[in-house]
Amino acid sequence: MTAPRTPLDTLRTVFGYRSFRPFQEEIVTRLIDGGDAFVLMPTGGGKSLCYQIPALHRPGVGIVVSPLISLMKDQVDALRENGVAAAAYNSTLGEREARQVLARLHAGELDLLYVAPERLMTDAFLERLRELPIALFAIDEAHCVSQWGHDFRPEYVGLGRLRGLFPGVPLIALTATADVQTRTDIIARLGLRDAEIYVTGFDRPNIRYSVVEKRKPFNQLMDFLAGRPTEAGIVYALSRKRVEEVAEKLRGAGVEAAAYHAGLADGERSRVQEAFLRDDVRVVVATVAFGMGIDKPNVRFVVHYDLPKNIESYYQETGRAGRDGLPAEALLLFGYGDIPLSRSLIESGGNPEQIRIELHKLNAMVGIAEAGTCRRQALLGYFGERLAEGCGNCDLCLDPPETFDATEDARKALSCVYRVGQRFGVGHVIDVLRGSRNERIRQLGHDRLSTYGIGAHLSAEAWGSVIRQLIHRGYLEQDMANYSVLKLTPAARPLLKGEESLILARPRVKVAAPKKEPKRRGGTVPLAEGDEGLFQELRALRKRLADEQQVPPY
Ligand code: ADP
Ligand code: MG
Repeated sequence: MTAPRTPLDTLRTVFGYRSFRPFQEEIVTRLIDGGDAFVLMPTGGGKSLCYQIPALHRPGVGIVVSPLISLMKDQVDALRENGVAAAAYNSTLGEREARQVLARLHAGELDLLYVAPERLMTDAFLERLRELPIALFAIDEAHCVSQWGHDFRPEYVGLGRLRGLFPGVPLIALTATADVQTRTDIIARLGLRDAEIYVTGFDRPNIRYSVVEKRKPFNQLMDFLAGRPTEAGIVYALSRKRVEEVAEKLRGAGVEAAAYHAGLADGERSRVQEAFLRDDVRVVVATVAFGMGIDKPNVRFVVHYDLPKNIESYYQETGRAGRDGLPAEALLLFGYGDIPLSRSLIESGGNPEQIRIELHKLNAMVGIAEAGTCRRQALLGYFGERLAEGCGNCDLCLDPPETFDATEDARKALSCVYRVGQRFGVGHVIDVLRGSRNERIRQLGHDRLSTYGIGAHLSAEAWGSVIRQLIHRGYLEQDMANYSVLKLTPAARPLLKGEESLILARPRVKVAAPKKEPKRRGGTVPLAEGDEGLFQELRALRKRLADEQQVPPY
């Protein structure tokens, strides 16, 4: 078909939509101009148009790699409805159909061809393509190329050859799930050139995020539910036993609640799920097993009774609230005492490498619970989406902690990260800043760095909070796959060069009142003077993560 004048024309005349969603137009333009792109957008975000429209605007056929034959068929059918010449080439085709598709391909009749990776990456097929004008390559579900992702597919690995074989053809990788490490890995494996990275659509502004100190969790849950006597919601707990207990106690207190976990019979599980969908059960108390395929629009709240194992699951689980776009709540009950349980769950399974990464992810999750500024900024930042301003709809935005001018401290921390070669984690950076005299620092010669001891005025906890906020605000990145090593981001530059100032929050961590000190009723305690004992668990975890950090020899 002949392409109309602008991408917007195409969006309207071919696809029948009025306007682009955020970044769609930029991505389309980038590809039309011949550049590579990496797109991270949630499911339903509108990734397909990002390659479909440029395929119509560039000469030649757009080749789309997709792992799922059923999805290919849906897309091809939908495109044909809109008058786009699309076809799929995969194992469901009979010999005659396959020949027809190839004939149309060679005749230059196709705008888009969907191919399974194992079909595409045969020498014979690649030879064919090299004789034809190709508009672009789109790699859908691109996380399948990375072992860091959750759905690694060996047949995706070969796609790394495309970039070299077709140097003039733009390449776009798209996925709905990839943390920073997976993303970096995908880009490297596919060999994307100066890829522009687009991350968008993850924000769920209608969900109000809050974290409260976990003291008497059941009473806290009851208080929370009492304020919402008719609303439906999910309570996530870490163990089956706890799920059963909480559900039982809720029923005892007159709340229509049901338990859901993988230990229940299939029949019981689907019964609970159905009842929840039909609004016959108000609260489902569940392990992580609950959620896949739950599409209930009016879930008004998600409570985390225990600390989730990582930010990915936390965000996914809280994202089940408020699908209808109406106000919803995500409440996390957080206590340092939960860390051992999460840790033992992690340590009970997987290979050592996986366990190591999972522990780092747990640490990042604790960082969200300890966040000093906008919770949503910290959460979205983890996925690489930046929010310029606080969200106005989380506990920290609604009840902001005290702030201070942290420009100098931030510069000290950032230069220290730089001085240690961006190859160390938080613990070591703090040790250098505070001028600690430990063996490792001496061995590395880090006691001779200009940043050694420049931060002795703050406690280790206070530095922890400054560095965490720098991570959450996007000045520093923590490489989870690589021993949580801290790295500067481009945003750190103006701050380091003294062109920017920075206001940070005075840390406010809500901690459970220790048993031996019955006088204190919990509440808000500045971290800098926080009760030592309460941080022990976290310290132990962080120490362990720091100790295992292998230092490459200079
Ligand atoms: P993804 O691949 O990211 O999961 P899709 O590309 O399948 O998402 O798009 C999800 C839905 O959003 C589709 O129904 C699609 O037609 C619709 N959509 C995408 N972009 C727009 C837009 N700019 N305006 C309106 N609807 C859109
Ligand atoms: Mg898609």
